[in-house]
Amino acid sequence: MDHTKINLLVRLQHLDNKIESIVSLQKGLPEEIDALDEDLVFTTRQIESRKKIADEHLKTRSRLHETISECKNKILNFKEKQTLARNNKEYDALSKQIEYEEKEIAQAEIQLQDIVHAIQRAQDIQKKGRQLITENRYDEITEEMMPDDVLQQQLQDLKQQVDLKREELDSIVIETAEDVDSLKKKVITQRAIIATEAKRLLDKYDHLRSGILNNAVVKLNRNACSGCNTRVPTNRHTLIVQGGFYLCESCGRIVVHERLFDEAEN
Ligand SMILES: [Zn+2]
Repeated sequence: MDHTKINLLVRLQHLDNKIESIVSLQKGLPEEIDALDEDLVFTTRQIESRKKIADEHLKTRSRLHETISECKNKILNFKEKQTLARNNKEYDALSKQIEYEEKEIAQAEIQLQDIVHAIQRAQDIQKKGRQLITENRYDEITEEMMPDDVLQQQLQDLKQQVDLKREELDSIVIETAEDVDSLKKKVITQRAIIATEAKRLLDKYDHLRSGILNNAVVKLNRNACSGCNTRVPTNRHTLIVQGGFYLCESCGRIVVHERLFDEAEN
């Protein structure tokens, strides 16, 4: 058996392991940032939808107040005309118009009351939420129970956290970019060598790594495959010690003596 071929592959695994260990420094950070971003979007949406409702209330209220004042002006006008009415018919017609305007005012006032009630209701719900917060009963708090100021604070906190995590990730990426870059170049070179020297081994390696596992080539550890801990048959030990490889019957990984990894390092 040509042992130099397996050495080439171990060297490739060694390089891939190094890249993996650098990338694992950032492990969790991108996912954490994504999750925080989602929370941020959700909180922002909540705040925006509350602002939209408040704006609509304000607009409706000012429109209703305008209507009321217009009606009142009309009534004043009609009443003045009544003093000049020449007959009962004219007077009664003006009375009807006044009555109509008064109904308009009453309707507008009902609508204004509805808005006041809606605002009051929302405040009461938030009060309930605040109470639950002081009692640490967070799981009982619904979306609308969240008090406005708590929501704002939450938004600020989330923004701060996302910024911090991003900075952390950026600095890791910057610090390690050079190393990763040079390792990736070495991987390309190594793969090119194996592609000409031991194409089938490379295919095996890529096939193993195409799934979830990164370590296609592993060390023999206490007479077992260190990938899955399955015992390696005794009659294969000699071959492995001599620098050969064994395909694990259980996980399919390529098992080699740990010495080969030490050699790959140098
Ligand atoms: Zn195994």
